Order: sequence, then C-alpha cells, then structure tokens
Amino acid sequence: MTRYIFITGGVASSLGKGIISASLGKLLQARGYKITIQKFDPYINIDPGTLNPYEHGECYVTADGMETDLDLGHYERFTGIRTTRDNSVTSGQIYLNVIERERRGDYLGKTIQVVPHITDEIKRRIQLAATKDELDFVITEIGGTIGDIEGQPFIEAIRQLKWELGPSRALNIHLTYVPYLAAAGELKTKPTQMSVKQLQGLGIQPDVLVLRTERELSSDLRGKVAHFCNVDVDAVIQSQDLPSIYEVPLNMLRQGLDAVILKKMGLRLGETPGLGPWRDFLKRREEATEILNIGLVGKYDLQDAYKSILESLAHAGTYNDRKVKATFINSEGITSENVGEQLKGMEGVVICPGFGNRGIEGKILAAEYTRTHDIPTFGICLGMQMMVIEFARNVLGYEDADSSEMNPETPHNVIDMMEEQKKVTMKGGTMRLGSYRCKLREGSRAWEAYGKEVIVSERHRHRYEFNNLYCDEFDRRGMKLSGINPDAGLVEIVEIPDLRWYIGTQFHPEYSSTVLRPHPLFMDFVKACIGYGTSES
Ligand code: GLN
Repeated sequence: MTRYIFITGGVASSLGKGIISASLGKLLQARGYKITIQKFDPYINIDPGTLNPYEHGECYVTADGMETDLDLGHYERFTGIRTTRDNSVTSGQIYLNVIERERRGDYLGKTIQVVPHITDEIKRRIQLAATKDELDFVITEIGGTIGDIEGQPFIEAIRQLKWELGPSRALNIHLTYVPYLAAAGELKTKPTQMSVKQLQGLGIQPDVLVLRTERELSSDLRGKVAHFCNVDVDAVIQSQDLPSIYEVPLNMLRQGLDAVILKKMGLRLGETPGLGPWRDFLKRREEATEILNIGLVGKYDLQDAYKSILESLAHAGTYNDRKVKATFINSEGITSENVGEQLKGMEGVVICPGFGNRGIEGKILAAEYTRTHDIPTFGICLGMQMMVIEFARNVLGYEDADSSEMNPETPHNVIDMMEEQKKVTMKGGTMRLGSYRCKLREGSRAWEAYGKEVIVSERHRHRYEFNNLYCDEFDRRGMKLSGINPDAGLVEIVEIPDLRWYIGTQFHPEYSSTVLRPHPLFMDFVKACIGYGTSES
C-alpha cells in the first residue's frame, strides 16, 4: 500500500521545497521504507530542456534520458535513488496527453475540461511510479507557490486524492516563510497564516507546516502558528538557514518531521535512524577547511546553471579533505591577453557544458592555457569539445578547426553533428540523452580513475560528437581517445596522458555524483588539483 506525501509552498519561491522533499525522502529511506520523489511543474513546456538556464537553472538528465528540473538532482544526491522520466511532470505533458486522447476519440461525446480530465491525468501521473514499482512512499513536490494560476489544477488534484485515499495514505506538507523584520525586531507569522488560509480556501488542510526562517523560532511562535492554522504543534517544524543543504535531513530528524508523518499515518516509529555515513560525510565536510581553488569556465554567471558540477566538486572535495572554492570565470571575458590573469591562483579548471557560439573562444583560450601550463583540467561535454578544437588548432595545426555547431562550413570539423541527429527537425527532447555505455582504454587515466572498470555507463545530453575521421591523428599527436561507446563507436573521453590531468568527457559525470558515492572522475580530478596546488607552493 503506497502512501502519498504532497509538498506545496507558499509566501515565496526558492524556500527550498526540493531540499525538504529530498531530506524527507532520505529520512524515510533510512527507516527502511522504499520511496521515490517526483516533481510536478505547472509550466507549459513539456520539459525544461528547451529553457535557457537563466530561466530555470540547470537542466538535469535522468539515466533514462529525460531532461528535467534540477530538483531531481537533489533527490538523487540525497537518496541515491535513480529517478526516471516518471519523476518529472509538467502541465505541458499533462495537457498534451489529454489533447492527444481527445483527438484519438477516447473521450468521444464529452466536453474536455480541467476538472475532471486534466485533474484525472494529474492524479494518474502522481500514482504512476507506484504502479511500476512497489513503493511505500511517493513524495510529490509541486513547483511554484500557492495561488499561482497555472498551479490550480495540481492543487485540485491533490485535494481530490487526499480525500479519496484518506489521512492514513495521503498528507500535505506546506512550506512557508517567516520573515524577520529588522526595524520591528520581530519574526512575522502573518504571511504563513495567509498562505495556509489560501490553501484551505482550495480545500486542503495542511497536516505539517515547515517554516523557513533565518532566525530561530520560539516554541511560542510555533504554537501560535499551530493555533491559527489547525495544525498540531509538533507538526510545526522550522527550517532555519544552515551552512549546508546536507545538514537539512539531520535538522528535520531532530525536529521529528519523519516521526510526525509516520505517526499521522498510523505507522510504527521503530528505531531512530543513525544516518552514520551521512553524519561521517558532514563531519568530514566540516573538518575540511583547507581551500582548493577551482575555476569554472562557462558563460552563465549564475550558480544554478552548473548546480550538479558544483555539488560534484563539493562531494569530491570533502572526501579529499578539502573545501572546494569554485570561482566562476565568464568565458566571454577571456582574451589571449588576460587568460593567465583570469586563471591565476586556480589549482584546477573545469570547462563547462553549453550550447551555441557565445563565449566559446574564451573556453578554447582557457583550454590552451591550462594545456600549455599543465594545470589540471576537466572538460565536460561542450568543454570536452573545446579541448578537442583547441588541440586541433594549436597542435595539429588546423587553424580553422571547429565544431559544425559553431561553424557549419569549416573543412576541419573535428566536432561534427552525430549522424542520427541530421534527420532531427524538432528541438525538444531530441538530443542524445540519458545513459550510454563507455568502454575505457586499459592503462588510461580515466580507467585508473574508475578503479580499472572496463565498461561504465554515463549520462549524455548533446547533438555533436568527436569526428572519428580524426581518431588516428589525435592519438598519434598525444590526445588519446580513452573512452569509446562500444555500440556506436562514438568517442566519450579524451585525455592527454603526458599532462597532470587533462580529461574531457562527452558525457556529464556530474549527474551521478551523490553524497555517499562521489563520482570517481571528480574524485580523481580533485586529487590531481591538490597535487598541483601543493607542487606550486
Ligand atoms: N552543444 C554541444 C552539443 O550539442 C554540447 C552540449 C552540452 O554541453 N551539453 O553537442
């Protein structure tokens, strides 16, 4: 019997619903329950794959090839579960499904309406994961804030499901914000009360409230909120700002978020989970105070655009007893005159993924500088492609070497569109997406990093690839092709073994690094950066 937990938010966005969802998932899992976490986003796009990172942050890719919201990255990093395309739903998908069925004649004779047709489809999607897998809990996070026009059908679907399933099988956690008014010297609960009233007006009585706050909330204040909102006082939990998102599960455990839910659903509490390895990670993280400077060369100067890369570096940093300080270096500002200055002090450089022409010459200059100065460098997807172009231009001597993405006319298209991509006309969801196998070349640095595994599987998101006509030439001149997809022959990893650490991957290793299982390539990269930093001083 699967139980459903719905997480909604009020007052403001960016309060950390994703982190609360991931933390709760972690705690229930630690108590022995089988869980999944899914995100329902009310926007109309089918997926965030076509969205600019400025609109939506990073696009996270599941192993089965869905482009999704970055919150799914948190779910995986916290719980270690592998999400799938079922875990990411948008209004666009819901409407598309209903409209296609209408055209097929499935509803013949009926007027198609938001209630019941759209809401029924939302309810079906909420329960879909549990029809495929035996799950104890499905946690569903609803994007946006209460009161958003486009979110209404989702709230209505939750209201209906809560009613149908009853309190032992469905409950709602509402996350709000308690602001501190400095001038008055007071924390204010009115926005929370208003938000709960709004939710009640839509027919949902929240069972648990999580109050995001910058300051400790007194028990009186929590009592007041409980009193005004018809919520038990032990179900009013505070989520105070913490130095790391990874401390949130412990904070929730201390306040009994999971216990209150189990109690409400009539489940046995059992033993309090120890979360040993998680605590070990946090302790190590806290003790790792020595800074490791890593430069991120990319074109989006916003943190969320490279979320998974930042988290992967942080995981690997902790397990190598370092605090990674990632410095964003805008590739549009890099010139041949200032590249040395821009990368100064960096003990390692990541050349970031991306699309289109903007900022790529800066990435190429950075790749040249780190190659010729032997600074550990990790190129990811477009970053790897820029390493290849730089090598072709400056080592192989093809001045006009390029990617056909940037210059379709170049005679030296060392990066070229994949054959199967040439027929593609639609933009959304049509890249090479999700997990593909990669065979590692024995004796290579990548192979060593992966613990001498021969076949690994990694997630992709690209249309262009290394042009295999150039394999021999690169290999002869010192850039080795150390990972190949055994099925299609596509180049997945390049490296220069003569350098300290100069590796580019066509895939995105950052999508699969988790708190308890840091990614081997990030681990090895960070080790090399430490070695470099130490050798310099
Ligand atoms: N734009 C490149 C491609 O499509 C790289 C994509 C990426 O970095 N994710 O191949």
